[in-house]
Amino acid sequence: MAKFIFVTGGVVSSLGKGIAAASIGCLLESRGFKVSIQKLDPYINVDPGTMSPFQHGEVFVTEDGAETDLDLGHYERFTSQESTKGNNFTAGRIYLQVIEKERRGDYLGGTVQVIPHVTNEIKSVIREQAKNADIAIVEIGGTVGDIESLPFLEAIRQIQLEEGSVNALFIHLTLIPYIRASHELKTKPTQHSVKELLSIGIQPDILLCRTEYQIQRDMKAKIALFCNVKEEAVITARDVEHVYECPLYFSEEGLDYIILKYLGLPLQERHLERWESFVERLKHPEDSVTIGIVGKYIKYEDSYKSLKEALVISGVANNCAVEIKWIEAEEIEKQGAREVLENIHGILVPGGFGERGIEGKMAAVRYARENKVPFFGICLGMQLATIEFARSVLGLKDANSTEFDRNTGNPVFYKLRDLLGDETYGGNMRLGKFECLLRKGSRAENAYGTNSVGERHRHRYEFNPAYKDLCEQKGLSITGISPDNKFVEIVEVREHPWFLGCQFHPEFKSRPLYPHPLFREFVKASYKNRIEGKTEK
Ligand code: GLN
Repeated sequence: MAKFIFVTGGVVSSLGKGIAAASIGCLLESRGFKVSIQKLDPYINVDPGTMSPFQHGEVFVTEDGAETDLDLGHYERFTSQESTKGNNFTAGRIYLQVIEKERRGDYLGGTVQVIPHVTNEIKSVIREQAKNADIAIVEIGGTVGDIESLPFLEAIRQIQLEEGSVNALFIHLTLIPYIRASHELKTKPTQHSVKELLSIGIQPDILLCRTEYQIQRDMKAKIALFCNVKEEAVITARDVEHVYECPLYFSEEGLDYIILKYLGLPLQERHLERWESFVERLKHPEDSVTIGIVGKYIKYEDSYKSLKEALVISGVANNCAVEIKWIEAEEIEKQGAREVLENIHGILVPGGFGERGIEGKMAAVRYARENKVPFFGICLGMQLATIEFARSVLGLKDANSTEFDRNTGNPVFYKLRDLLGDETYGGNMRLGKFECLLRKGSRAENAYGTNSVGERHRHRYEFNPAYKDLCEQKGLSITGISPDNKFVEIVEVREHPWFLGCQFHPEFKSRPLYPHPLFREFVKASYKNRIEGKTEK
């Protein structure tokens, strides 16, 4: 039977609950426990798939094709978890399940209520996900005090009552603000936030106090007294330069030790050596390289969370810091590609939806191709790289994706249903992991070091096979293909130092200790370009 750790947040949002939960997972895994991390989000959307990246950040896609909260990306990067649909539930999805049961008559004529029906549904998804773990960490989204989170908090309160406090812990993340005028850290907001939790029957066992400065003993004693926790359970969660340092700081504060003590679990030896050495290399790069990301959600970096982390991680693999230059595609349309991209060592066009900025991205592709700047196109980026090639090299001036021009004479990308001739696919996306076979001797095969890989997808449009032969003849190789030969997954420009586009999203599978091969090779090629090329540092 798994033990539970519930992570809640108070005072303000964006304190880094996801990173905290992921760090706890990392520490417990380093002590040999099998961990699962689940996120429960109180909003009404059934999943974040339809939410704008500007509002909610990146949609993280799991192997089994769930569109989930970006915190699941942290969970996967900090632990060995391979998330599934069960790792992320929203209030909307819970209510949907309850309403479907009600329509089926499962409640046998009873009045369906938040307590117990909604709370029971929440408890059952928590328990289901905990089945194969020693310790199940459950992060409750939102901030304590929000109306929406109440059923979730009630459900975890009940679980602790049912399981006993040695089997279920509450960890609360709060803020200890620093007041500059009086040079003081303040504990009052934390006291109020704990009071809020207490009013719904939850006594936190451990407080993670997010602060700019280390909390001294006397202040810890004060917080402990007012919040009714042990002094050892008041943990400083200091601001850090790199999120990957968090598990190390938490362990210095004794967090893993007290969690195991409170849960009555053995204090198995900790093995964090590889993580420590990753952080060490991250903090002390030997050199640097500048990568330009040409996108349309760049004002809100969370929109490209996994992408950014994949680049940072690959920098470490190449002993260099990756400086990311975020470039608004429309800026290229206004100023011209050379003006914007001149001092950049590698260009990446990421995934995206909709027409805005398309021509700017296409100009970036062309600049990279013609000037031999390493290029990495992901999903939409791969589609645009192919379209640009079709226009400039194949001479098909109107080449396009039917996403942007329904009536184009040269639909180089078209809908899945056109490819499969199957109406049932309609407007649906291809989601989750699909196998891809790699061509012998290609850049992709060299990078992966194998001839078959599984990668995650999230898109509606596909390469139109009618253009395959022409592309091959003129220098765009199709180096990744689905086993049934229907889907083009990877394209590479042959006469180029490094130019690769993939239809899938490799950023979701890059982890600190396992940098993704394509990102690693792209950063390597970009660094080589910096060293050998004329581009200024
Ligand atoms: N808009 C494109 C499609 O739907 C690309 C999607 C993406 O980049 N994730 O196919």
